[in-house]
Amino acid sequence: MPEGPEIRRAAQAVHRGIAGKPLRMTLAHPVLAPMERALRGAIVEAVSARSKAMLTRFSTGDVLYSHNQLYGEWVVDRPDEPLRSRAIRLVLETTSKRAVLYSATDFAWLRHGDEDAHPYIAKLGPEVLDDATTVRDIAARLAQFPRRRIAEALLDQQVLAGLGNYLRSEIAFAAKLNPWRRLGELGEAERHRLAKTVHDITRRSFRTEGVCVPTALYRAQRQQGANFEAARFFVFDRDQRPCRECGATIERATLGGRKLFVCVACQDVFPLPDELRH
Ligand SMILES: [Zn+2]
Repeated sequence: MPEGPEIRRAAQAVHRGIAGKPLRMTLAHPVLAPMERALRGAIVEAVSARSKAMLTRFSTGDVLYSHNQLYGEWVVDRPDEPLRSRAIRLVLETTSKRAVLYSATDFAWLRHGDEDAHPYIAKLGPEVLDDATTVRDIAARLAQFPRRRIAEALLDQQVLAGLGNYLRSEIAFAAKLNPWRRLGELGEAERHRLAKTVHDITRRSFRTEGVCVPTALYRAQRQQGANFEAARFFVFDRDQRPCRECGATIERATLGGRKLFVCVACQDVFPLPDELRH
């Protein structure tokens, strides 16, 4: 599933492609279609991300809430390109750009100003990728959930909005913290380090289209022949491969129903939790 950085980049691409321009609109999904008449002649004023949802605000004050879940995908291309053979939910088309939402099923129509009352949005924690969210804000939020394990808290959109499964493994590794530890067990310096890593790695991934390791390390690996997927992570999807920092073997576990990757040496994962015993 796409995580916060991917959704935010999609929102930015749709916004740059079609916002502020006259539109031809096709609303194909049954939840969307009844609005087609009311939106005739309207333009899109802004497209933004809230955690893994997207908000498309029209000049009428109507806001389309959409959540891609596992299958939905926004594609921005040119109006003369062939459409993909997937379920088309909506098409927003200017003279030069076209934004198409494929396969999503979770939609709602909101009014501008009422977005925060939507049940999904109402429950979200602070948006990690918002410019206004500081390391201090993130540390303060983490301190409110002392009983949660690090790896559980980093997946929970109600704790912090915009993280996901690859980010939680990468963040715990880069912060050199055992992801099974509870937030309440962290000292102040450790909590600050975790918060700073949450802030920095998520922004780095947004800027670099998904690269979590530092640029120099990424480039060095690409020069040695590694492809994008093999080069972009510290530990995620690197089960049984050597840690980039200490050479120990990266281990894979399941936590909260999702895969989690750790270097037990760098992250001081002792004693080994049940999920890691072979
Ligand atoms: Zn290591």
